[in-house]
Amino acid sequence: MTIPVKALQKTGPDQPFQVTTIERRDPRPDDVVIDIKAAGICHSDIHTIRNEWGEAHFPLAVGHEIAGVVEAVGSEVTQFTVGDRVGVGCLVNSCGTCEQCLAGFENNCLNGAVGTYNSEDVDGTITQGGYSQKVVVNERFVCRIPDALDFDVAAPLLCAGITTYSPIARWKVKAGDKVAVLGLGGLGHMGVQIAAAKGADVTVLSRSLKKADLAQELGAARTLSTTEEGFFTEHSGEFDFILNTISADIDLKKYLRLLKPRGVMAIVGAPPEAMDVRAFDLIGGGKVLTGSNIGGIPETQEMLDFCAEHGLAARIEKIGVDEVDAAYDRVVEGDVLFRFVIDTATFEDAEPVSAP
Ligand code: NAP
Ligand code: ZN
Repeated sequence: MTIPVKALQKTGPDQPFQVTTIERRDPRPDDVVIDIKAAGICHSDIHTIRNEWGEAHFPLAVGHEIAGVVEAVGSEVTQFTVGDRVGVGCLVNSCGTCEQCLAGFENNCLNGAVGTYNSEDVDGTITQGGYSQKVVVNERFVCRIPDALDFDVAAPLLCAGITTYSPIARWKVKAGDKVAVLGLGGLGHMGVQIAAAKGADVTVLSRSLKKADLAQELGAARTLSTTEEGFFTEHSGEFDFILNTISADIDLKKYLRLLKPRGVMAIVGAPPEAMDVRAFDLIGGGKVLTGSNIGGIPETQEMLDFCAEHGLAARIEKIGVDEVDAAYDRVVEGDVLFRFVIDTATFEDAEPVSAP
């Protein structure tokens, strides 16, 4: 027995999205069934389904910023009950026994965590993501959404929120630190809010000043345009911490010059291209170049609670299931303030291409 639900899938990287019917597994004893209320559009969805990171498995539904309500629970579920407000991010399973999982870093599972989409699940099927009406997930990978956060503005926190929160926490960004956020998109706009909530002096480094007023609303002290003549010379050695959320191929060497000696750049943006960095770009000032991949489940819950406590949430543009192709083009053009979120209620009237 499986649960038929509508989903938004592509059959190939250049095909449009279409509403289909997919089968969700019947809940295992430790599973919860989630009625999805909102699903965010992350740039990683785009990289994946356009085959920019390698071969995607089609037909595929992406989406790993999921917010909804628990509709049913398996017989051994202990943490959730029907009606709970919950979220699911980029992971739906992991071994649970390796040192990383045991330490709460399921995102670094040594035996390979199962991604929310395009991943081989424990039963050999390919996981299908959150652009869908429901999802069935092991309870260990479900977080609670605090009542203070609406589903629409909470959904993007499950990826954009944790991906920016985690390196900011790991590198102990604190009051007074000079922080630069590279790129003011979905991730960037959460990074600004979180770093500002920690008391940092936040500068947005964007390709223009178009979003400067909004950046200020989010908590940035200033916005600078990286395309201005002399920018990289003028701002050399200015920042303690740089959160790099840029989704495209950039000349990283130039950006590393913006760090103070002993400063840290955490890369979270994931363009497919190789990066060109010389030893001398780092050893001179003892700079740290590091990366970060979402976050573990305990830290994801911590981030949701932190956002609720500090009044932080995503700024979103809500769209219907028939607007996702157009939204993708707009994300790639940098034309989104700041996250598209799919209103999953719009599945209701959409006719699937093939009946169950
Ligand atoms: P997004 O909303 O498209 O934001 C990316 C931002 O990068 C844009 O808003 C833009 O900022 C800047 N940008 C784009 N092209 C650029 C270029 N050619 N030169 C300079 N800046 C450019 O994407 P997102 O959803 O925030 O995701 C950002 C990246 O993080 C993606 O690569 C995504 O796959 C990755 N990601 C990684 C993780 C992880 O765990 N590490 C998790 C989620 C996402 P301005 O308009 O302000 O210039
Ligand atoms: Zn994401």
